[in-house]
Amino acid sequence: MTLQLTPAMRQYVEIKSRFRDCILFFRMGDFYEMFFEDAIRASRLLDIALTSRDKESNIPMCGVPHHARNAYLSKLIRQGCKVAVCEQIEEPGQKGLFRREVTEVVTPGLVFHDECLDARGNNFLAAVRFIPPFAYAALDATTGEFHYEVCDSEETLADALFRLSPAEFVALEGEGTPSTTRGKRLIEGKLMSTVSCAAAGSFELSAQIEGIPPAGHPAEGVVRGGLYYLHIHQPAALSEIVRMTERVGERYLAMDETAVRTLEVFCTLSGERKGSLLWAIDRTRTPMGARALRSLLAAPLQEINRINERHEAVAELLEAHVLRKEMVSSLDAMGDLPRLASRLAQDRSGPRDIAALRDNLAVLPALKETLGGMISPLLLGVRDRLGDHSSAVELVSETLADELPAGYREGGVIRPGYDARVDELNHLLTHGKEMLSEMEARERQRTGIGGLKVGYNRVFGYYIEVSRSNLGKVPAEYIRKQTLANAERFVTQELKEYESRVLRAQDERNAREEELFLALRDSLKTQLFSIQGAAEAVAGLDVLLSFSELAADGGYNRPLVGAGKDILIENGRHPVVEKILGKHAFVPNDCRLSPDEGRLAIITGPNMAGKSTYIRQVALIVLLAHAGSFVPADRAEIGLVDRIFTRIGASDDLSRGESTFMVEMRETSRILDGITERTLVVLDEVGRGTSTYDGLSIAWAVAEYLHNAPSRPKVLFATHFHELTDIVSTSTHARNFHVAVREWQGDIIFLRRIDEGVASKSYGIQVARLAGLPSTVIERAREILKKLESAEYNEFSLPSLSGAQEAGGSAQMDLFPRKQRREEYSVLEELQRMEPERLTPMDALMRISAWKERLRKGMS
Ligand code: ADP
Ligand code: MG
Repeated sequence: MTLQLTPAMRQYVEIKSRFRDCILFFRMGDFYEMFFEDAIRASRLLDIALTSRDKESNIPMCGVPHHARNAYLSKLIRQGCKVAVCEQIEEPGQKGLFRREVTEVVTPGLVFHDECLDARGNNFLAAVRFIPPFAYAALDATTGEFHYEVCDSEETLADALFRLSPAEFVALEGEGTPSTTRGKRLIEGKLMSTVSCAAAGSFELSAQIEGIPPAGHPAEGVVRGGLYYLHIHQPAALSEIVRMTERVGERYLAMDETAVRTLEVFCTLSGERKGSLLWAIDRTRTPMGARALRSLLAAPLQEINRINERHEAVAELLEAHVLRKEMVSSLDAMGDLPRLASRLAQDRSGPRDIAALRDNLAVLPALKETLGGMISPLLLGVRDRLGDHSSAVELVSETLADELPAGYREGGVIRPGYDARVDELNHLLTHGKEMLSEMEARERQRTGIGGLKVGYNRVFGYYIEVSRSNLGKVPAEYIRKQTLANAERFVTQELKEYESRVLRAQDERNAREEELFLALRDSLKTQLFSIQGAAEAVAGLDVLLSFSELAADGGYNRPLVGAGKDILIENGRHPVVEKILGKHAFVPNDCRLSPDEGRLAIITGPNMAGKSTYIRQVALIVLLAHAGSFVPADRAEIGLVDRIFTRIGASDDLSRGESTFMVEMRETSRILDGITERTLVVLDEVGRGTSTYDGLSIAWAVAEYLHNAPSRPKVLFATHFHELTDIVSTSTHARNFHVAVREWQGDIIFLRRIDEGVASKSYGIQVARLAGLPSTVIERAREILKKLESAEYNEFSLPSLSGAQEAGGSAQMDLFPRKQRREEYSVLEELQRMEPERLTPMDALMRISAWKERLRKGMS
């Protein structure tokens, strides 16, 4: 650097060199200043003015006021930045320079300010490994949650991470680059940092932490990476990680990213919470309960016993109407217990946090008492984990005052009567105030100045103020201190003595209160483990209560989840659509899928009939049952499901410039990979969005493959391709269903009822009319339809399934039209659509020669 830097700027450059990947908030008086590239970047991201430090050096600079720090910080964090906060630590020495230090580094995954956090969701930092063996470790530093998982492929890793939706990623050198599109999409726009393998490897793991993977475990690297990253940025937060757990993929009902997205589990396809499954079913009362429900939906259980245990608890709570309401109102009195505990662990709690912690813990005995009367093992387990915190509650109440300040350094924290010395000093201070007013009255009398005032100011301390008109009466012993526009301020010997006595008392009291407060905090900290345990138990209880409230209000019933393989649902409803339309407007439907008698249901019906709603409702009922919830159905018997696969035609990848055909084929081949007898496959309009023949071929091939697959999955296939219903005539495991409609005076009425068999017509034109297309268009469409129906069109329809059935695998490939056939179809399609009366002869000639060319290419 050729510039001559001032000492402050040299200090800046030195500190910045240690935090290169961060924006440095450099405290200078009442501002946090940013310089150089940081200033340019931050002024853009924060939309604040970019200035320069001084005329000569022209160093770019911008700043934010210190009191608004968190608001600006969170704005930067949300845009994927890291921010290092550098504070002034000591008053200037002889060199006139403050000592400054970085006190914390805030990153999207390591943020503790409420302004930046969503209480109803976790804020995960994920350490990832995108090379075999694939693994991740996820930690929420605001709640102390920590788990890790080894995955068999990058796809499964991406699915797991998608469910967690981490705020930030970290990886060991060379492990942070995904190779699949899905992996890449996952980290897109998120902060990804690398830590050196050597540093993370030699990092001393605390022996206190329970459940650390043993040396050589495939997740060791990610666990170390995550902890090391935490250590270098927020060392205080390390102390709250007291245990970690390993997740094992098979124990959860697997749903890949597409399934979670298309079933709109957490947000709708347009990205909103309203309209999602979570929105429809969430009755939790506490932030930790809301988070627990969310993670349960992301990873529903896969063990029959554990699922039934939950259903049993929900059933018991549902019955115990009065006790349930009691517990719900107890929960209403609670706040974010895990985050309060986490603040305690990191020595970040102020007096109000400790009081809030006490108030939360004080709710537990009532819950415990109520739970004591229950018989379900899960509820009794919750009761036991609530623990006994009565002595902590008592201690806090004894120690802290009723009205608390935000900080603990200015006094006012300790309850009168708790500490003799604090009381004594406080007495002195209040007594001192009386002395001041006495003095004021006395001086007024003595000098005859009626308006004489004793006052206090932070810079000049105590003073006596006399207005200009009365200056003549001021006694000789008054010492002049400050001149104002209309008055002068003085001190006296007496006032000086008084001041030093008061200030000393105040300092001493503040110091004593601080000491007592910190001792209280430390003694609570020894109970951290059991407080965290209680917080988890409350979160679990909140979820169970939420399920039972939902069952009570929504008319949900207990599903039977067992080892069988059928899915039987009577009068099932879609939880979200039902909530939006109102219970009486929703038409319930049955479902019966069974490996032995029909496990491939083909559902046809016109647009807007209710096909998508129906197939999603079955999947959501399965998902809810596995999460431990009751379900919106009169009866449901569900053989354990290991995976839910969904595919939706014309997926949004279109916008990424890949041809739909390719996308469909790739996505479909992924389905075909992972299926078993316990897999539920939900296909919605697969094949839509391509040309008719491509689409039909894909749909046909997929349906047929799933039908013939030896792994015998259960499949719901909604389609507008009527041709697909032919599959049923030649196959044993497929059934046709259609959405019933009634025709009335040329319009159709949707009955929303799923009936067995094939619909007589496709009603496309009536639907267009309902949708408000102009009548000329509709008339024209009717004409075309008539022509199509009479034409010799069927000659080119697809081969029937019967041949493929017998020939097995290889014949399936024939269902994809050979290139020549495809060209023929598409030429014919164009011909059908063409309106000769609108063509010029030249146009017609050019098209004919183009067709000839395409057909010739198709043959070769
Ligand atoms: P499709 O997939 O056949 O085009 P959808 O499933 O998207 O039709 O349903 C269209 C609309 O019909 C939904 O938005 C919903 O409002 C309504 N609907 C669907 N199923 C039902 C039902 N069972 N009862 C009442 N309304 C329904
Ligand atoms: Mg649909």
